Amino acid sequence: MEKTELKNIVILATGGTIAGKAASGTQMTGYTAGAYSVADLLAGVPELGELAHISGEQLCNIDSSSITDALLLRLAQRCNELLAQDDVDGVVITHGTDTMEETAFFLNLTLKSAKPVVLVGAMRPATAVSADGPLNIINAVKVAVDAASAGQGVLVMMNDEIYSGRDVTKTNTANVATFKATNGGPLGFIVGGEVHYYYRSVRPHTLQSEFDVTGVTALPRVDIIYTHIGEDRVFVDAALAAGARGLIYAGSGMGSIHEAVEAALAEAGVVVVRSSRTGSGIVAAGLERWQEQGFLYADNLNPQKARLLLQLVLLRTQERNEVQGVFLKY
Ligand code: ASP
Repeated sequence: MEKTELKNIVILATGGTIAGKAASGTQMTGYTAGAYSVADLLAGVPELGELAHISGEQLCNIDSSSITDALLLRLAQRCNELLAQDDVDGVVITHGTDTMEETAFFLNLTLKSAKPVVLVGAMRPATAVSADGPLNIINAVKVAVDAASAGQGVLVMMNDEIYSGRDVTKTNTANVATFKATNGGPLGFIVGGEVHYYYRSVRPHTLQSEFDVTGVTALPRVDIIYTHIGEDRVFVDAALAAGARGLIYAGSGMGSIHEAVEAALAEAGVVVVRSSRTGSGIVAAGLERWQEQGFLYADNLNPQKARLLLQLVLLRTQERNEVQGVFLKY
């Protein structure tokens, strides 16, 4: 392709293992994530210059396990600014894998553009023998310049697979094939250096999403209560004392609630949404008793994604029927 025909892609770097540094080529754990700058990352993949006009921007350089609500808002707002520019055709976000699914879902709901936005990371640090980051970045840029990526919502490109930001989740602590859509599958693949799409996510996103974080400076506090044998009400009470305006109950099975906690949830006076700790499947309305107590249900969003959706809807309303409608829609 002629240089003049190349698209303009911004690489927005946030840190993670893709920018991680270890003491040796075989050290795969206990390294420092977010050690290399975006300039370092780009210098490692000169092939990008053949695919697009690339510019790099460093938003932060951290381990994604420590991302705050404030940073998530800043990332969404910065992406929206970039996407509004005529000289930006797409954005690739380098990001740690630990919370990539949360950022991808949040951006999927809050970016106001049909231009491609692709999150990418790595499971092995940049210093590793067989580091997966460089090829993942090349593939992410290929996805970002591909016309078929427009209007697909925020995407995640990892290990030759393209996922919807709504559905993707990290399933394994160490394997490079960690990302899956546990209720479905990838939207597409990169094979032979080519982008191949087969599916689309049908839930509303980006331009069809009602959520807009322009000018929003803070998100309502929502805590996740993770059930287990022997659970009691201590964490529910602690969350409420800390000012939670909503609770996601990561129930057992299909969002089952421990009897010892039910009264605390019913008395909480905040929106309670049942999700599941199982990792896949739908959580439905469940027991009539739960419905009478006003507990809502998360459809097939996992607890960490349900938390983000509840934060966004609580910016606007806490009316139970409306909140439930949002969970069935998005
Ligand atoms: N802890 C790292 C992070 O999420 C892991 C990774 O990027 O793979 O930043």
